[in-house]
Amino acid sequence: RRWVYFFDEGSGADRNLLGGKGANLAEMTRIGLPVPPGFTITTEACKAYLAAGGRFPAGLMEQVEQQLERLEREIGRRFGDPGRPLLVSVRSGAPVSMPGMMDTILNLGLNDEAVRGLARETGDARFAFDCYRRLIQMFGDVVLRVPAGRFEHALEAARQRRGVRFDHELPAEELERLVETFKGIVREEAGRDFPQDPREQLELAIRAVFDSWNNERAKVYRRIHKIPDDLGTGVNVQAMVFGNTGPDSGTGVMFTRNPSTGARELYGEYLPNAQGEDVVAGIRTPEPIARLKEEQPELYRQLEQVAQRLERQYRDMQDIEFTVDRGRLFLLQTRSGKRTAAAAVRIACDMVREGLIDRETALLRVDPDQVARLLHKQVDPAADVEPLAQGLPASPGAAVGAVVFDPDEAERLGREGQAVILVRPETTPDDIHGIVAAQGVLTSRGGMTSHAAVVARGMGKPAVCGCEALRIDLEREEFQVAGRVFRKGDVITIDGATGRVFAGEVPLVEPELSPEFRQLLEWADQARRLRVLANADTPDDARRAREFGAEGIGLCRTEHMFMGPERLPAVQRMILAETREEREAALAELAVMQQRDFEGILEAMAGLPVTIRLLDPPLHEFLPSLEELVVEVTRLELEGGDPARLAERRELLRKVRALREANPMLGHRGCRLGITFPEVYAMQARAIFRATANLRRRGVDARPEIMIPLVAHVRELAFLRERIEAVRREVEAETGLDLEVRIGTMIEVPRAALTAGEIAQVAEFFSFGTNDLTQTTFGFSRDDAEGKFLHHYLAEKILPENPFVSLDAAGVGRLIELAVAEGRRTRPDLKVGICGEHGGDPASIAFCHRAGLDYVSCSPFRVLIARLAAGRAAV
Ligand code: ADP
Ligand code: MG
Ligand code: MG
Repeated sequence: RRWVYFFDEGSGADRNLLGGKGANLAEMTRIGLPVPPGFTITTEACKAYLAAGGRFPAGLMEQVEQQLERLEREIGRRFGDPGRPLLVSVRSGAPVSMPGMMDTILNLGLNDEAVRGLARETGDARFAFDCYRRLIQMFGDVVLRVPAGRFEHALEAARQRRGVRFDHELPAEELERLVETFKGIVREEAGRDFPQDPREQLELAIRAVFDSWNNERAKVYRRIHKIPDDLGTGVNVQAMVFGNTGPDSGTGVMFTRNPSTGARELYGEYLPNAQGEDVVAGIRTPEPIARLKEEQPELYRQLEQVAQRLERQYRDMQDIEFTVDRGRLFLLQTRSGKRTAAAAVRIACDMVREGLIDRETALLRVDPDQVARLLHKQVDPAADVEPLAQGLPASPGAAVGAVVFDPDEAERLGREGQAVILVRPETTPDDIHGIVAAQGVLTSRGGMTSHAAVVARGMGKPAVCGCEALRIDLEREEFQVAGRVFRKGDVITIDGATGRVFAGEVPLVEPELSPEFRQLLEWADQARRLRVLANADTPDDARRAREFGAEGIGLCRTEHMFMGPERLPAVQRMILAETREEREAALAELAVMQQRDFEGILEAMAGLPVTIRLLDPPLHEFLPSLEELVVEVTRLELEGGDPARLAERRELLRKVRALREANPMLGHRGCRLGITFPEVYAMQARAIFRATANLRRRGVDARPEIMIPLVAHVRELAFLRERIEAVRREVEAETGLDLEVRIGTMIEVPRAALTAGEIAQVAEFFSFGTNDLTQTTFGFSRDDAEGKFLHHYLAEKILPENPFVSLDAAGVGRLIELAVAEGRRTRPDLKVGICGEHGGDPASIAFCHRAGLDYVSCSPFRVLIARLAAGRAAV
């Protein structure tokens, strides 16, 4: 088995085998850039070593020896030669960039004898002993696990003794003395001597790199970034070049473009007379690369050339590490540079203009989730502020406002035009009106898919959830955090993009859509096949969605129209009605309001489809909670209050108790309500048809579609469809208009997906309600799963992703694919789409594209992101 490759034997494509660093060193070597020669031990060798419990696979060290001989020939020096020693660096490099693994060891190959050889040869004892003390220090730290602080203290003492500020000012004798001190430290801390045999040094270093794959830091990093545990790391052994030989040497890091703005300019830092990590270690202040333009124009020109060459090769902005050895430039690393969202957008567009990449590639360069941050207000990055606490970044955007604990009060103040932040332990559907009125929401409990998070994201409202450091006292209307008390009315700032909470008003900056971003969206629109619709329940939302480019409404939830304070009483009367007459009277009141709502939305979306879902949630969501009523009735009983009120409340309590269900989400809701209370759906259908008729008479192109939720059996749908058609015929007779509209269903329980072929006989479209479909496919209660066990599943990597955030392609997705195939077999022109949280999630959108859906529907604020994601999915 081949375990080791010389740099000129690989290429940039060998990332998995050689690791990212090794593959890029090979690539740079291949295209003739100045890279010190060396070789890479493969990730396969690492895996074999780890699998064998820490034993090198057969042949590994022999191959290392062979490659070392080749390296010796190329450099003209010998490893371990006391006169002209070959020195190498040992560097780790996994297939994906992974800080947290073993640090690099430089100057390997030196020992007590060779250091004198090097000093003689170069005539520079300071340099030679500087290299040696660095070797012992790094080797001691990473291989022998000597506490790094001990070396630092010794260095500090040496600087003081000599009265200098910087290490490179230490004279040779002092460095020589330091070497002895360092060796003593190693002996004390590691219980062994610093190994004098260079081959032993090399072997131990290789082991240390392999072992570092499983150190705690690396494991945690992989868990957070969802990196598989079985990739292994490569080891790069490379001839040293020296940035620490004097003022015409140095080391630097550089981006080929500005990583924060995207501007096309070299960006980075350079430190003369320094080695390795000195630049980033913050010991001496490095100079901005830009200054080299005057100070070392020749070097600057070379860097510019290298930048261009690398960008041409990789067709992306690069992050480069380099060293200058007595005036000669050497490249030691290149990789795609990390960048801000704004820079990503600008660079992608610029590179298309420069002819480096095509439009499709440009789309792939911009991460929709990252770009989402550009679309909301942000905490001014220039503001120097310390957060009070850190919660989950539940819904992006920043908001400033006065703390309010009561949703009713939030609503009142909001209506008066005051900026408030609603602070609750968690939120429920009863709090919606408060969330609507607030600038943002802050909760101390709940995760990324808690009620508050979902609702806030749907509204594009900033939210920080699960901020556990907050101790909220609703009775006293205050919360404590970081040893401070915040009362009702105190101003705070929340940043839903990062989860931070601040005291007082922190300056915010407005989002702006740069011309480059608009350009990118245009390219996405040209590339995508999926249509992008919005979930919108009000004319305002509909208009906003349209501005963002929504091509219709994929989900208009009618229950939100039942929630407002003017409506709730009528809704409650309808639910509590004893007789059919009572119920119809209440419904008649609601019908007027519903029709107005529909007219508003259909008009705002004139010419585009509006899919209206008939009433879905269980009825008790419209009534006071059982707990609240019990408390109220008990209090009235004890206080002996108004008997009429008591009787009324007792009656309500009885009703609420009767409506109570053990599993409301699996209970009396959706089409089941429509079947047991046919008047409700009939009222809604009538309102839709009448609204349509009114608008069409005014010349407005209203295009409603009616969607029945939670169907599990084709006969449920057939039953309801028949009644809706009857209402249509009535309204057609009333108005003399043809009001035929598409009638379809949500697919949100497994049985519906499994019998999609039958259901398509009655449905003209399917909309996958993937929130419920995920809930019912996994058998996870969405409201409970996250708090109780889902985070544990994610931590243990039992599930790779939260399936309520990113669609589970293997399970839920399989049901979708099956339903699409069988539905279209029955009805070739069946329209299929998805609504719900997943419709705005880029990974889920990519799935929808693959599954052949016609559209995705998401909250208005995700429409831009969905357009981008749909474009990316198509390239
Ligand atoms: P990291 O992954 O932490 O960036 P590297 O392996 O890139 O670690 O090494 C860090 C630094 O060490 C490099 O940027 C470079 O300055 C220095 N270095 C590594 N190998 C060599 C070498 N062969 N010659 C000179 N300096 C080197
Ligand atoms: Mg590096
Ligand atoms: Mg549903």
